Amino acid sequence: MYKSIRHTGESRYPGPFFWIPAFAGMTMRWLSMNQVRIKNFTLPQLEAWVENLAERPFRARQLFRQLYVRHVTSWDECSDLSKSFRNRLESGTLLNALELADKRQDADGTTKYLFVLQDGLHIEAVLIPDPPRHTLCLSSQVGCALGCRFCRTGALGFQRHLQTAEIVDQVCRVQSDLAPEVRISNLVFMGMGEPLANYDAVTQAIAIMLDANGLAFSHRRITLSTVGLIPQLRRLGAELPVNLAISLHAAEDRIRDQLMPINRTYPLRELMEACRNYLLPARKRITFEYVLLEGVNDRVSQAHKLVKLLHGIRAKVNLIPFNEYPNSGYRKPSEEQMLAFQEVLTSAHLTATIRRSRGSGINAACGQLAAQRNHKTPAPVKRV
Ligand code: SAH
Ligand code: SF4
Repeated sequence: MYKSIRHTGESRYPGPFFWIPAFAGMTMRWLSMNQVRIKNFTLPQLEAWVENLAERPFRARQLFRQLYVRHVTSWDECSDLSKSFRNRLESGTLLNALELADKRQDADGTTKYLFVLQDGLHIEAVLIPDPPRHTLCLSSQVGCALGCRFCRTGALGFQRHLQTAEIVDQVCRVQSDLAPEVRISNLVFMGMGEPLANYDAVTQAIAIMLDANGLAFSHRRITLSTVGLIPQLRRLGAELPVNLAISLHAAEDRIRDQLMPINRTYPLRELMEACRNYLLPARKRITFEYVLLEGVNDRVSQAHKLVKLLHGIRAKVNLIPFNEYPNSGYRKPSEEQMLAFQEVLTSAHLTATIRRSRGSGINAACGQLAAQRNHKTPAPVKRV
C-alpha cells in the first residue's frame, strides 16, 4: 500500500500498531440453494431480477440505492420497501457477502480491515487516509496464482476468485465504518490477487462502482493494477475507462522472467505492444509500477533500459521501495540508490515518483495481506 508522494526518507511512522476490537458479531447466514447474493448484480441485472419477481421496475433502483448509498446491512433497515417485498428479499437473497473479523490501525492512520467470507477464508482491504483523499485498496482474489517472487500473496498461492459481491462489499463495509463526513475517494485494485485473472467479477464490480445510482465513483478515481495479462488487457481498454497500472518491475526479460513467472507467457515486447495499443482516454497515462529490489533491478543501467522501454508510451513511473518481510530474500535499496535511479528517469522527462510505504507497522503493504489467517507463514523465497 503506497501513497503517491515523493520519498522523504524513512517512514515517519514506523511505530507500533494497536488493535481495535472487532465489532462484528458473526451475523452472516449461510447461502441456501435458492438464494442469490444481491450484490453480485449490476443495476440492469437487478432490474431483470426484480421484474422476474413481478415487482415494479423502479424497485430495482430503490434497492440499489439502499445497497450502495445507504449501505444497509439488514433488510429491516429498508423501511421504504413494502413488508412483503422485504420478506421476499429476506428469504431469497443474501445481503452481506462478508463480515468484518478484525481491524488494525497503524500510527499513520492506515487501517487494515480483515474480512471473513462465507466459506471461512479471509481477505483484506486497506484504507489509506491522505486528506482530502481516502484511498481504499481492494482484494480481487483469495491468494494469487501468479507467484511473483517478491510478493507475499504470491507465496501463498491461489485459493479462489472473489465474487462481485465480495469485491463491492469491501467498499460498503469500510464506508459504513467511517465517520459520516469521511468518504472513500479513490479505489485501487492493489490488494490480494490479480484482478485481470478474475476479469468478469472484477469488471462487474467496477460497473457497480461507476454506476451513478450505485457507488458513484468517477472513472478517474478507480485504478486497476495488473501484471499485464494481455488478452484481458485488450478487453479492459475497450470496455472500461478506469486508470491502468502495470506491474513492470524490470526492463529486461531476463530479470522479469525470474521475478514474475508470467513474463514467460507474456514477455516484455508483447506487453509493451499491448500498452502502446491500449485505448487510453485523453490526458490519461499508464502508470508503470517498479518495485526496487537491491542488487536485482535497481542499477542506473537498468533505469536507462526502462527509459528506452517506455519510449513512445504515455507513461508515468511509480518507484516502490520493496516492502520488506521476513524470509523474503530481498531488500530495498539505499536511499541514494533509489534517488539515482529516479534521476535517470526524470532527466529523460519521465514523471517518476518514489512512493512511501504506508501501514508498514501492520503489514498492510500490497501483496502482504491476509497471510496469517489463510495459511502458514510463507516459506523463505529464493533470491534471484
Ligand atoms: N496483482 C496485481 C495487483 C496486486 S499487487 C499486480 O501485481 O499488479 C499490487 C502491487 O504491489 C504490485 O505492483 C506488486 O508488484 C506490488 N508488491 C507486491 N509485493 C510487494 C512488496 N513486498 N513490496 C512492494 N511492492 C509489492
Ligand atoms: Fe499476484 Fe500481484 Fe502478488 Fe504477482 S504481485 S503474486 S500478480 S498479487
